[in-house]
Amino acid sequence: MTDPRIRNIVIVGGGTAGWMAAAAFAKVLDAGCSIRLVESEEIGTVGVGEGTVPHLKLFNNLLGIDDVEFVRNTQGTFKLGVQFNDWGRLGDSYVHGFGTIGHDVGLLPFHQYWIKARQSGKADEIGAYSLNTVAAPRGRFMPSASDAPPGSPLANVAYAYHFDAGRYARFLRSYAEQRGVRRTEGKVAQTVLRAGDGFVEAIVLENGERIEGELFIDCSGFRGLLIEQALHTGYLDFSHWLPCDRALAVACEKVGPPTPYTRASARPAGWQWRIPLQHRTGNGYVYSSAHVSDDEAAATLLGHLDGAPMGEPRLLRFTTGVRRQAWNRNVVALGLAGGFLEPLESTSIYMIQSAIARLLNLFPRRDFSPVLTERYNAQSRFEYEHIRDFLILHYHATERDDTPFWNQCRTMSIPPQLADNIRLFRDSGRFFRDGEEMFATPSWVQVMLGQRIAPQGYHPLVDQMPDAELAGFMASVSHVVASCVEVMPAHQAFIDRCCTAPAMV
Ligand code: FAD
Repeated sequence: MTDPRIRNIVIVGGGTAGWMAAAAFAKVLDAGCSIRLVESEEIGTVGVGEGTVPHLKLFNNLLGIDDVEFVRNTQGTFKLGVQFNDWGRLGDSYVHGFGTIGHDVGLLPFHQYWIKARQSGKADEIGAYSLNTVAAPRGRFMPSASDAPPGSPLANVAYAYHFDAGRYARFLRSYAEQRGVRRTEGKVAQTVLRAGDGFVEAIVLENGERIEGELFIDCSGFRGLLIEQALHTGYLDFSHWLPCDRALAVACEKVGPPTPYTRASARPAGWQWRIPLQHRTGNGYVYSSAHVSDDEAAATLLGHLDGAPMGEPRLLRFTTGVRRQAWNRNVVALGLAGGFLEPLESTSIYMIQSAIARLLNLFPRRDFSPVLTERYNAQSRFEYEHIRDFLILHYHATERDDTPFWNQCRTMSIPPQLADNIRLFRDSGRFFRDGEEMFATPSWVQVMLGQRIAPQGYHPLVDQMPDAELAGFMASVSHVVASCVEVMPAHQAFIDRCCTAPAMV
């Protein structure tokens, strides 16, 4: 009887997606499964992607890579959240911090009590009640303290990283090769489909080498070499809701200590990121080419750097959207080959990680049961659409009408589920996370409030707490948060103590 298990996996592409997949498969799958990765140095990688969300820690844990090793090897820094400037109105600023806000009381989330207290002048801005949003602008950072009492904000500090993606890919490459992944340098020139069912049988390199496989992972970037060029899977375009279609990226010299947060500043036709690493600062302007020329965008970007640019800005073109099926026949598309949502909340690398986990959970046998494929695609679409809606919220919930771009975003129609969520929040501050969607209630609440969606009321159960107690509750939470931030070291000091002296990668 032939072995029903998949024993031969071919990964096309060696960017962040390809090497993350190779490293995870090498770690999790048994040694009898051959993993081969083909990449072309001449084509290169997209070369951007330096901001993350806290989930990456789980992926590194799976591989057995600890924080200090990771941050050292990637010249990384720590990230407590994203600071949004000029989004709701020119002059506005708020931080979307990772982690929780205050602490919940029984059935109700903290922010319900906060709404009532705020409406009666007994509470500060919502940011005063979360460790991350107070610590970030003050440049403080530390991971969870093992000696913090349970319930203290310091017992569970939520953080992510800024890192050099090229160094991460090299690090993962060496990890995967040490565990048996075979790398082939070369350009894929042709994809051979099997007669009958149209499954991919092999890829053929420019030098004529034919590489056969049972499962193909398409990590070839925007071009989608297998999923689109060979299988013509189709693409769902989201650009009517997320009109930015280009980015200019440039690093600049580091000036001052790195901030423990990403900065996302609204610009006339999009927004600009600022991501501090140990050795440089990454910057980019994500914009709509229908509203601004490349030259104007470059001038805007260069005019808002805080250090000298290290080279010319690099132009990247994209169409926001997702493949109609992330898994088609025996091809699973990961990373940019599967779709693209702009990096406003640094979600792309997370989506690679979650797609790898999904694939491992639904890992097929050689018969490729369609039930697995269908479930994978449904979960993948669910994830994309919920993150997409979270991004649209940032653009749509604005009072800005000072440029045609912002006016378009403000007045556009939005997906019905997002419109319902905004209506419910505006009514009484209620929000319900939908199943396993990526962003939890504190994220939605911070962004809705930061974008000036003001709840008119609050949950009636809040009134069970006497007014005097409510004021005391607010004061005690903000006091605890402020005292915790006092004991946190400066971000730079923490890095100097734990994470410098990069190892060779
Ligand atoms: P790529 O890096 O493009 O790699 C493609 C690979 O395929 C390369 O190795 C290439 O050589 C290979 N290849 C292609 N064609 C062939 C061929 N014919 N033969 C052989 N090999 C081939 N993500 C985040 O999480 N955070 C961020 O802050 C962030 N910022 C971003 C900013 C911008 C402007 C953009 C565009 C993306 C950003 N991303 C971010 C997304 C992130 O960069 C990508 O998700 C990540 O780099 C993965 O890319 P990839 O591996 O899918 O593709």
